[in-house]
Amino acid sequence: MKIFFCGACREVTGSCILVETEKIKFIVDCGLFQDDKSKMKNSYSFGFDPSEIDFVLLTHAHTDHCGRLPKLYKEGFRGNIYCTPVTIDLSEQMMIDSAKVFLSDDNINPIYFPLDVEKTMTCFSPVPYGQDYSINKEVRIKLSDAGHILGSAIFEVWIKDGKNEKKLVFSGDLGNSPAPIVKDTEFVNGADVVFIESTYGTKTHMSRELGRSKLKESIVEVIKDKGTLVIPVFALERTQEIIFELKNIFKNENVKEIPVFLDSPLAVRVTDIYRRYSNYFDEEVKKLVGKKDDLFYFDGFKMTRKKGDSLGFSRLSNPKIVLAGSGMCNGGRVLDHLKKNLPIANNRVLIISFQVEGSLGRKLAEGAKEVIIGEKKVKVRANVSKIEAFSSHADFPRLLAWIRKIKNPSPKNVFVIHGEEDLSVDVAKVLKSDLGLNAIVPEYGKVYEV
Ligand SMILES: [Zn+2]
Repeated sequence: MKIFFCGACREVTGSCILVETEKIKFIVDCGLFQDDKSKMKNSYSFGFDPSEIDFVLLTHAHTDHCGRLPKLYKEGFRGNIYCTPVTIDLSEQMMIDSAKVFLSDDNINPIYFPLDVEKTMTCFSPVPYGQDYSINKEVRIKLSDAGHILGSAIFEVWIKDGKNEKKLVFSGDLGNSPAPIVKDTEFVNGADVVFIESTYGTKTHMSRELGRSKLKESIVEVIKDKGTLVIPVFALERTQEIIFELKNIFKNENVKEIPVFLDSPLAVRVTDIYRRYSNYFDEEVKKLVGKKDDLFYFDGFKMTRKKGDSLGFSRLSNPKIVLAGSGMCNGGRVLDHLKKNLPIANNRVLIISFQVEGSLGRKLAEGAKEVIIGEKKVKVRANVSKIEAFSSHADFPRLLAWIRKIKNPSPKNVFVIHGEEDLSVDVAKVLKSDLGLNAIVPEYGKVYEV
């Protein structure tokens, strides 16, 4: 059986893995490259013929996992794309957004258009969690909750390879459990080959309790200073989680409620999908929904659904909070909010998401005193701080706990993917030294035999 890596090797974005036996060819994820260093790879050939791919397994709806699917379709793929039902709806929104971003940027050649997304949607095929599902005579799969974003799945894949059957496990992105909306990450037992993410390398996250108190502290400070608190957010999961946390702080923590504004039409659409799929929420939160509490709404909360909403909010007097995308500040409406608020000392910026190398968010998190937004130099006088507690990715103790449970059998090979090179290498070293696993950090465009 051959494994070919077409992205997210020694880097975080562009997830795409080809699995090939004598009888079948399928890929797991088909994501967009999103950091400046590797964006050009989006227009490269996949390195395989998309028309020969039998099917796709999609772990979740983040753009770095689903964002090249319309390119795959455009280049001849006509098979099924298997994922959870909520991933279908969320992926549609994420891919439409990517197509719009391509069209709005004069510096990039669109790799697909909104119409290609529409055609790609005809390939999606829902698979529920927890059921054995036969794709054909060669392959069966089972999805478990990865606890990363709503609908995210770990794929167990049993494949006939000649007379033998091999079991491959794809972690997708693993969650930072326990998280307030999604369920906890599930464990799987036994594999021949494991593909594991390594976004945070060997780091340990700040506890969620400490993260909550730091978020509360930032709100209290911004109220005292009569400033604006800007929180760059990813439209998917981080936005919903932060709305939930803010609601909780205002309701239960004795903090004066101030206006909160979500300036991201994509995040508003995603939040509507979250409301529709409340049956996927974890049990504690389900009880609140059962009591007819809207998790994503409180009195001072406003959203941009149409043009002009944004203007109305910017006229509101301080203190206030703005949530806007993109989460890594490499585009989107957050740029306008940063341009306006960074030069003023009584404002605050809170970085709560993963920041890829070279992104504006990374520069701010690392303490830049001046940044360039668009063509403009912007002085950073606002207080910028970072909270990693709200990450939707597992940290190293969680990764280790997850892989330790894969015992019957223990994997012969573990591919460490979806991490910056030095972080993936660090993870592989510990997997080798502490767990005795044959951990490999694969290379983009290379074929491995398993
Ligand atoms: Zn993800």
